[in-house]
Amino acid sequence: MLPFIRSDLAQLTAYTPHPGGISGEPAASSVPIDRLDTNESPFDLPRELKEKLAWTYQQLIEANRYPDGGHAALRQAIAEYVNESAALEVSVTPANISVGNGSDELIRSLLIATCLKGEGAILVANPTFSMYGILAQTLGIPVMSVARQETNFEIDLAAAQAAVEQTQNPPIRVVFVVHPNSPTANALTLRELEWLRSLPTSILVVIDEAYFEFSQTSVVDELPQRPNWVVLRTFSKAFRLAAHRIGYAIAHPELIAALEKIRLPYNLPSFTQAAAQVALAHRQLLLELIPQIITERERLIHALAQHPALQVWPSAANFIYLRPVVSKNCSTTEALTLLAQELKAQGTLVRHTGGGIRITVGSTEENARSLNRVQAILNSFEF
Ligand SMILES: *Cc1c(COP(=O)(O)O)cnc(C)c1O
Repeated sequence: MLPFIRSDLAQLTAYTPHPGGISGEPAASSVPIDRLDTNESPFDLPRELKEKLAWTYQQLIEANRYPDGGHAALRQAIAEYVNESAALEVSVTPANISVGNGSDELIRSLLIATCLKGEGAILVANPTFSMYGILAQTLGIPVMSVARQETNFEIDLAAAQAAVEQTQNPPIRVVFVVHPNSPTANALTLRELEWLRSLPTSILVVIDEAYFEFSQTSVVDELPQRPNWVVLRTFSKAFRLAAHRIGYAIAHPELIAALEKIRLPYNLPSFTQAAAQVALAHRQLLLELIPQIITERERLIHALAQHPALQVWPSAANFIYLRPVVSKNCSTTEALTLLAQELKAQGTLVRHTGGGIRITVGSTEENARSLNRVQAILNSFEF
């Protein structure tokens, strides 16, 4: 390794990003690929919105000018959207909103604002979204982890409480939870919420609601009483804008001010800000496909759950989580690896993580293929 690179980076494994690509590109093989590994929406933006966005670019965006570095119009539009879908006693204002280049950027800003310089460690409950741990490691921030119950993936709260009480030099400054969790698709339970409420206000609680539009459960209503909570959301999932990279944080104005201080001045390109505003202005049109995804999800869960070799969990998001639970010919771990490999070989990309497989709910055709392939693979290997 080059001698000037930080020595601990050699041990670090980066997040493996989605290969992506532009539709219409010649495929490497003749197998059509179902990209069900990153929980994107299967639906591109409607043509009329793309046309509107193209018009915005041509008529309103000056390519030679820096973007609005304060995101004023976008923060106002986000605040209105948050208020509309919450029952807040005090409405949120732009002072409660910070916008990031994806919520990934906000996760990093939160870490910088809280834990850097040896001031704090973070706590996560695995399996969960891997970016919290990965970003913490890139900043040299210690990551403490606890497990979840095997039955419903509730956090091991006794272990979490012990970690909070016993971790020193540095202490735990931030607890990250996802609501509903990825990859396991479960929303926070009452017990988990009670525990989060019981944490001292010296600990920041990050509640990542990336899948809020699917789950329709949120802790936003509690934010006015909880200055040490921050809710993260994204335009990458239900809003169908993963290509544009927009996430936002909702929190106490002092935390928002700290995030604004830390970020790069022009973190969000003008075109990206325009895309988010167009999406919010047409949110009914974009979000009206959510019931369809939920119906498909329930159908998929029901059908997969019929297979005796498989355990499938309920889902409050746009993906499902499953594990082979019995296997005649090999261990369940081997069965899991085989299932993931075979799905990929047949053209269904899934996320093999946390001792299970996460499959995004895609289009009707994709879901039919997912179901057929999982069943056929299980049967052919006589799990
Ligand atoms: C997809 C996802 C995000 C979104 O990240 P972006 O950077 O906004 O695309 C954030 N958190 C979780 C848990 C996710 O699954």
